[in-house]
Amino acid sequence: MGADYRGERQAALRRRLSELGLNALLVSHVPNIRYLTGFSGSAGLLVITAARTALITDARYAEQAPEETRTAAEVLVEPRNLWERARSTLSEATGLRFGFEREHLTVRDAERLAGLDSAEPVPSTGLVESFRAVKDPGEVEDLAAAAELAHAALAELLPTLRAGETELEIAARLEARLRSHGSEWHPFQTIVASGPRSALPHARASDRRVRSGEWLLLDFGAQYHGYCADITRTLVMGQADTRQREVYAVVREAQCRAREGLRPGMTGREADALARDHIVAAGLGEAFGHSLGHGLGLEVHEAPRLAVTAQEPIPAGAVVTVEPGIYLQGWGGVRLEDDIHLTPEGPRCLTDGRTELLEIH
Ligand code: ZN
Ligand code: ZN
Repeated sequence: MGADYRGERQAALRRRLSELGLNALLVSHVPNIRYLTGFSGSAGLLVITAARTALITDARYAEQAPEETRTAAEVLVEPRNLWERARSTLSEATGLRFGFEREHLTVRDAERLAGLDSAEPVPSTGLVESFRAVKDPGEVEDLAAAAELAHAALAELLPTLRAGETELEIAARLEARLRSHGSEWHPFQTIVASGPRSALPHARASDRRVRSGEWLLLDFGAQYHGYCADITRTLVMGQADTRQREVYAVVREAQCRAREGLRPGMTGREADALARDHIVAAGLGEAFGHSLGHGLGLEVHEAPRLAVTAQEPIPAGAVVTVEPGIYLQGWGGVRLEDDIHLTPEGPRCLTDGRTELLEIH
């Protein structure tokens, strides 16, 4: 971690809470806890009041939690039940009106919060997420490092690709290289889709063998200091034919328009249209069945959304993917995905942005 923004993040959150008439927040979504405290463990609850930032975790993290949070949180190690401890921590202060994260709670957890005598639970939506949508310089550095190592892994993979290999074999080599370049984890299942399978936007790698003349779509991620990269490249094994070149050119131009045209303050819908309008004009609108992109950070899908249904403006400082695609059932699909930092001056590509058609011989 470079500069430490955790104090500022908590202060900004407290200001927002008081604007909302709340004097505490119970944070149960693990990436939100990490954002506010630096704690990277998988089990924890965070209670934020005007006076306290208390991280409740279990004995497995007794050593790690104080090391990671340092002064950003007081760590309470709870041997039995995190939720009971959260309840009692919230009850210690009187008259609390506390928010809880309605999108990140099971019914059972919600039941545990009900019936507190001295505190009133209030459902909240996307509170910490709205802060996370705007990246600080340290986060952008980590996102750029994740993108860079993902490209390094891809660059090593490309010369080794051969027709006749299975998608799983290719995925295994790509994942090994991602790891050896320092990726902490695969933030989502690596997609390696060949031939007609490339028309399935979320195809997993299978035992299908890629043949000469076919598409090979690679959609893969990397993680560095918890921050994710998300990249898609579609290439041709051997020589591309005319139809492949035509469809590829449409996706590439659509992606280029979106990458260059993105501006802070645009709605997600307007951003989506930058690419979609071009694909529609090419007569292939029906074949672009998903949204243009999503925010990228501690999670691989986070705010903001670049989608027809997204009316909120995209804030300056957001990092988003731009990933238009064209999918033709039985024939195949093309998707190109890069990661863009939306600075106040305009878009900056964190990935290498090299989308010329690759033919692997
Ligand atoms: Zn992707
Ligand atoms: Zn993506």
